[in-house]
Amino acid sequence: MTIAQNIEKINTSLAGTSARLIAVTKTKPIEDLQAAYDANCKTFGENKVQEMVQKWEVLPKDIEWHLIGHLQSNKVKYMAPFVAMIHSVDSLKLLQEIDKQALKNNRVIDCLLQIYIAKEETKFGLSEEEAHDILGSEVFKSMKNIRIIGVMGMATNTDNQEQVRIEFRGLKTFFDGLKAQYADTENLQLREVSMGMSGDYLIAAEEGSTLVRVGSAIFGSR
Ligand SMILES: *Cc1c(COP(=O)(O)O)cnc(C)c1O
Repeated sequence: MTIAQNIEKINTSLAGTSARLIAVTKTKPIEDLQAAYDANCKTFGENKVQEMVQKWEVLPKDIEWHLIGHLQSNKVKYMAPFVAMIHSVDSLKLLQEIDKQALKNNRVIDCLLQIYIAKEETKFGLSEEEAHDILGSEVFKSMKNIRIIGVMGMATNTDNQEQVRIEFRGLKTFFDGLKAQYADTENLQLREVSMGMSGDYLIAAEEGSTLVRVGSAIFGSR
């Protein structure tokens, strides 16, 4: 199957759900990204800032770039001019740096709070309590150049589909609770639930994902 065929197949399987496809292009060469672009898939996810910047420089400028991997504060400045969404906000300090760099670029950058949902120890993310701490803080409320528009989570890497489903359902329930508790403001407009990867995006879509991040099912294994 070609990249275009894979994209078409995934988009077909997502039809009727609320999930939109983000093609995860990390480690893949420019030709692969161009093939996805030519198949009208123009939303890309990268997990390293440097690599995303290099690809942004050479590819068409109507691509929406999403940073999905763990992010260090000192890297934010490199992508602040163009990044469309940052999925991996896991501290107030990082959010402050994004706000600062977005201001320098006269932009508002959309962000998701990465929530820890997996059983494994290895994943980054906030606990639900830590997410509440951020949303309730005066520091966050005063930020003008970021907008928190939802949450992101990664399920446990397991063949146990029921486990994965329970974790996705938990994230959606948490998101619904946040929406009920926090009224929309300029910098808080909850509408996105980023969950689901190549192995579990259909389960995620069934559980209310709005953004699935799919790499290997489009481009082959890394
Ligand atoms: C690599 C990656 C993906 C995509 O993984 P695949 O299994 O190749 O679909 C999704 N989300 C994050 C955060 C990633 O780092």
